[in-house]
Amino acid sequence: MASSVFQPHPFHWVPADGQRHASADPHPPGASIYPDGTEVTTLCGQELAAEASDTAWLWGTCPVCDVAARRRAGMPPMAGAR
Ligand SMILES: [Zn+2]
Repeated sequence: MASSVFQPHPFHWVPADGQRHASADPHPPGASIYPDGTEVTTLCGQELAAEASDTAWLWGTCPVCDVAARRRAGMPPMAGAR
């Protein structure tokens, strides 16, 4: 309850290296995604190049980033998650 700045999602999803990861890196100015090839630091602690192809968004979610992103969003881990 201490936040004074509206930050609904202090991270972004980014397909890279065969999975959808989340990153707290800001998007480039004027961009709503990480352009293809953007080096991002993911919430699971990797430095990966973003992939902006349509099929990249169909990749599975990185489980480590999923947990980290939910924590940042103030949401509990998914009930019954395997
Ligand atoms: Zn990840």
